[in-house]
Amino acid sequence: MGLSLDATQLDRYSRHIIMDEVGTDGQAALLDASVLVVGAGGLGSPAIQYLAAAGVGTLGVADDDVVERSNLQRQVVHGDDDVGRPKVDSAAEFVADLNPDVTVERHQTRVEPGNVEELVDGYDFVVDATDNFRTRYLVNDACTLADVPFSHGAIYKFEGQVTTVTPGGPCYRCLFPEAPPEGMVADCASTGVLGVLPGTVGCVQATEAVKAVVGVGDLLEGRMLFYDAMAMSFEEVEYRQNPDCPVCGEDPIDSVADVDYADDSCAVNAD
Ligand SMILES: [Zn+2]
Repeated sequence: MGLSLDATQLDRYSRHIIMDEVGTDGQAALLDASVLVVGAGGLGSPAIQYLAAAGVGTLGVADDDVVERSNLQRQVVHGDDDVGRPKVDSAAEFVADLNPDVTVERHQTRVEPGNVEELVDGYDFVVDATDNFRTRYLVNDACTLADVPFSHGAIYKFEGQVTTVTPGGPCYRCLFPEAPPEGMVADCASTGVLGVLPGTVGCVQATEAVKAVVGVGDLLEGRMLFYDAMAMSFEEVEYRQNPDCPVCGEDPIDSVADVDYADDSCAVNAD
């Protein structure tokens, strides 16, 4: 690994190091790791917080938005004084304050077909903390094609879902080949969302990232975890790889350029 922990780090991460499942090797792996969080909003905030606290050495944050006051009910990485500031700046300051071991890579950009492959390239793990289908399919397709494992998270009012996609396993498209028609699933702005809901879902995603980096436990591979905050219940549905999946199947597309993301369905063009 080639990374040794100094006295301050041995103290900071002592509750990790004391566990056989993590230990100094696991902590060194975290400090050596790079994780990209796409979206510094409701899901991204808790993911950023816990990944920074855990000592993930390089934390990428991709978001092109500025903080709005209506975000603060759930996007806990931003504060009242941050209203109007870029979310990547606000998130980076939070991380710098929490843990000087972490280097934040700011990507103040909208995730597009033209930049998504370059964006995810080189990261060990990606947390998909986006709030729209277009970016969700872009992240799935780019990560799957580049063999970068990622955690998908989504929320709706009082419900959330999480799954983890790893190289060789089924991807998000295996379960949902195309996005639902526009207007079928409304966004937070028009339906509302319980503020604490993305906290739970984003923390599950951060947990998956930490486990993937340390190399312990069972990831949510081929399993979609459904969380119902009203019933306070967790259920999971298994899903399999679709051999005809255009992204992870037997005859995959070459790049995201083969997908029409401008069309709301995010469908892969038949050639
Ligand atoms: Zn697939």
